[in-house]
Amino acid sequence: MKENTSSLVPRSSPLRDRIAQWIRPQIRELSAYHVPDASGLIKLDAMENPYHWPQDKIDQWLALLRTAELNRYPDPHAQKLKDRLREVMAVPTASSILLGNGSDEIIQMIIMAVGGEGRSVLSVDPGFVMYRMIADFCGMDYIGVPLREDFSLHVEVLLAAIERHQPAVVFLAYPNNPTGNLFDKTDIQRIIAAAPGVVVVDEAYHAFAEDSFMPLLDEYENLLLMRTVSKMGLAGLRLGMLAGAPQWLDEFDKVRLPYNINVLTQLSAEFALQHVAMLDAQTQQIKQDRAELYTQMQVLKGLTVFPSQANFILFRVPAGKAARVFEGLKAEGVLIKNMDKAGPLLRDCLRVTVGTAEENAAFLQALVKLELC
Ligand code: PMP
Repeated sequence: MKENTSSLVPRSSPLRDRIAQWIRPQIRELSAYHVPDASGLIKLDAMENPYHWPQDKIDQWLALLRTAELNRYPDPHAQKLKDRLREVMAVPTASSILLGNGSDEIIQMIIMAVGGEGRSVLSVDPGFVMYRMIADFCGMDYIGVPLREDFSLHVEVLLAAIERHQPAVVFLAYPNNPTGNLFDKTDIQRIIAAAPGVVVVDEAYHAFAEDSFMPLLDEYENLLLMRTVSKMGLAGLRLGMLAGAPQWLDEFDKVRLPYNINVLTQLSAEFALQHVAMLDAQTQQIKQDRAELYTQMQVLKGLTVFPSQANFILFRVPAGKAARVFEGLKAEGVLIKNMDKAGPLLRDCLRVTVGTAEENAAFLQALVKLELC
């Protein structure tokens, strides 16, 4: 039956007004997380691993998926997967593990659990955008403490901000996105010691970095460590992990929606982590290609290239040219991310994900063609 929608919305209350009346102002002011269309383009905008698996592994995985009981809810605690993650990620025995539908969902769980009138979330700018976005839509104050020009932590300013705002949670990405650097470890330890609430060290790019806070988890009662399998080649599964004291994680678990890790993700991630050497080999390849791409970009006139411990490289082009570079690359079939409008420190900056050797070569070739100087 065709619904008469006009009778549902009285003339005196246009839909626009009704929405304005009921959708919270903080939500109306936000823009939804934008994912650009990459059809037909070399996709170097989202820090994905460009590799799939050898055919025999794909066949074994598909055979396993045939056994999936889609008519049943998944294991609510994803216990086998947690055991596997504990081993692969070397989570200390005293720590618990909480899983999320991507680490984005974990950020949301943490913020929902600590949220409330007058409470705040603190991180650095430039930093990962979801900390701010989720704080905004959960109605919390967000404090973004600027990094130094060289993207290092301004530790004294951070400590002063912590003292003043008493944030419920501090997020620090290690390595940082979008800058790609590792912050000074002692600085982070000073922040953990000073923070009144919880400090989440977000190691989304751990696979490409030379350091981790995992061995320090037992030393600080307010330190939590977040990882994701997204950058290890499993972005499509949507699986993130939080490790830390069970007392914290039990609280966050209360705001976790039941069965948040679906049957296919549980099976697929367990399988992939049984073949972790295959993922590690891809990571090693990406690290090697990152070094090569970095060297090749450095010799290009007009570019400032920032060193990276992640699977992407941030670079600065001559003043006012970021949009031209972004569009020019796109016209040549390469999609990267324009960061120019993402805050004062990222003026004229763009971020490219390290792809396959062929994809990186196509990116470089297109960049050279633009003749920046
Ligand atoms: N943390 C950081 C620092 C990130 O850059 C990202 C993804 N871009 C995430 C967390 C979220 O990762 P996911 O939700 O895919 O696990």
